Amino acid sequence: MLITGASRGIGAATALLAAQAGYDLLLNYARDAGAAQALVDQIRPLGVNVQAVQADVSSEADVLRLFAVLDEAFGRLDVLVNNAGVVARKSALRDMDMARWQAVFGINVLGTLLCSREAVRRMAAGASIVNLSSAAARLGSPNEYVDYAASKGAVDTLTLGLSRELAEQGIRVNAVRPGLIDTDIHASSGQPDRMVRLAPQIPMQRGGSALEVAQAIVWLASGQASYVTGALLDVAGGR
Ligand code: NAP
Repeated sequence: MLITGASRGIGAATALLAAQAGYDLLLNYARDAGAAQALVDQIRPLGVNVQAVQADVSSEADVLRLFAVLDEAFGRLDVLVNNAGVVARKSALRDMDMARWQAVFGINVLGTLLCSREAVRRMAAGASIVNLSSAAARLGSPNEYVDYAASKGAVDTLTLGLSRELAEQGIRVNAVRPGLIDTDIHASSGQPDRMVRLAPQIPMQRGGSALEVAQAIVWLASGQASYVTGALLDVAGGR
């Protein structure tokens, strides 16, 4: 299993759960080499083959290098989790600039396309892709980050299209759409208190944990979801 953006948050929780299920793991990260190595050290005693590789998923050269490591060290790919994703600072659209959109779409959309292309070139029947979308694709995130929401709308559409393109080959493609999940992503939009503040608006009255999202990802990836493809699975406490 290859997980992008696995050094923290949902990606790291998915890595731990997948290791417990016996997957060998290639873990990608962008900047936090220390966190990635700490996760590798935590997983290795579980007895699986695990390695971390730095790569910016929005760079084609980096993604090609990441998959070259995969070929060399693992020789096959059963599951790709397109988890790497970013938001920019909370803002109204009128104050956003091109650099921000290029970063958000470069990582969330082009990164997902690039990694999916390289994965599909290597996958055989029984393999699957899980994309990280967001409840934002449904809600639109007005006055916060409509650009992020639009990028996740693109991830949803890619999931639907690619699932149909690959169905006959026996490769499944699904997405998870988390709601408010307890990770660092809210601090990176300048709103570290976002989850606590918005919890009363969530039907279940609380934010979710990275583990609760990881459980959905690992299930969708597995043979237990063998007839599930093109699904957009909300993990959002009813929001
Ligand atoms: P997070 O805690 O902010 O972690 C982001 C991860 O992505 C880190 O491991 C980071 O690596 C990596 N990353 C960032 N830019 C990258 C790049 N250019 N190339 C490769 N990796 C990169 O995020 P999270 O909350 O776990 O979110 C994971 C996914 O779930 C994202 O796609 C996000 O949009 C989605 N999601 C999250 C929530 C939520 O409430 N948390 C809700 C809906 C959807 P480094 O630390 O090494 O830079």
